[in-house]
Amino acid sequence: MATATATINLNAIRKNWQKLRSLSSNDAAAVVKANAYGLGLKQVAKALYVEGARIFFVATAEEGAELRSILGEPSDIYVFSGHMVGDTELIKNYNLIPLINSIEQLSRHSKLLREQKFGVQLDTGMNRLGLEPMEWEASKELTLSLNPVLIMSHLACADEPNHKMNINQLNNFLTLTNKINIKKSLAATGGILLGPEYHFDLTRPGIGIYGCSPMQDCLPVLKIDIPVIQIRNIESGETVGYGNTWTSPSKKRIATISAGYADGIFRTIGKKTRLYFEEIGCPIIGRISMDLIGVDITSLNVEPDRLALINSRQTIDKIADDAGTIGYEFLTSLGQRYKRNYTGVAR
Ligand SMILES: *Cc1c(COP(=O)(O)O)cnc(C)c1O
Repeated sequence: MATATATINLNAIRKNWQKLRSLSSNDAAAVVKANAYGLGLKQVAKALYVEGARIFFVATAEEGAELRSILGEPSDIYVFSGHMVGDTELIKNYNLIPLINSIEQLSRHSKLLREQKFGVQLDTGMNRLGLEPMEWEASKELTLSLNPVLIMSHLACADEPNHKMNINQLNNFLTLTNKINIKKSLAATGGILLGPEYHFDLTRPGIGIYGCSPMQDCLPVLKIDIPVIQIRNIESGETVGYGNTWTSPSKKRIATISAGYADGIFRTIGKKTRLYFEEIGCPIIGRISMDLIGVDITSLNVEPDRLALINSRQTIDKIADDAGTIGYEFLTSLGQRYKRNYTGVAR
């Protein structure tokens, strides 16, 4: 089989969430948007449910509907994008909690689904989603009369603990929610690490559950193994791959492995990335193709069946860094082609 394997450790996911929960002053939710950061909504959500998670956040009503079908009741499913045109039936039928982020959404929700739970998203400076302070002041009385179940905002710079934006947003959030006796939420993974004054009633970790920065001391969640299709010997002066970008300086042994940029292994991943046989790292050579990568295995004294891209030696964060991106983007770019194996217990 030429298909690469992504092995996802559900026990590690459970333990990482448990750790984020124990770091949180009060309750912790789990963010499972974008197919649980690309790792599989069904398996991940069930594993977290077993671990005790009962509050989930997704990006869209469609994701929420899928999650409700997986979990059933009882669990709270919040939708970051709020109540969009066309979402009403999904919100109602799948019992979702939209996080209202504009006056327009507020009037839509109060008109069409007055009895359905909702939360409010405030903008404290990120200028991405949420009611502006002026809009909030103008609509506060009406909104509160409709009994929102959560007030939240989101930090723009929480992965930089010393950034002054953090304290500015915290102060804005405190001002905007002053004397309001409703459940509050501000912190994602980065915000949890900033300290308890950022935690309020509910934290919303995502990336830390999946074992990536800015979370520290978390368990690795993913392993990627790629089959070797062919091994060849080349002479000094021969080239490998599209565009002849690599010319061999000496006799070499080259393995062609069965994955490429269609599997989220970005062409920009650069010269730092290695493919591992046990503890030995072998460099990528030539351009990464859609489905194939050339690897210099001259240093190995075996003919490997497969090489590892992600393992204990080379983490998601390391690869993401090699590609000039972040773990979030690497994970959500993995693509559909991997054979996904789940270890540990989901249910
Ligand atoms: C994605 C997201 C989260 C989770 O953030 P992480 O950095 O992955 O922990 C929390 N809140 C909001 C509003 C988000 O968009």
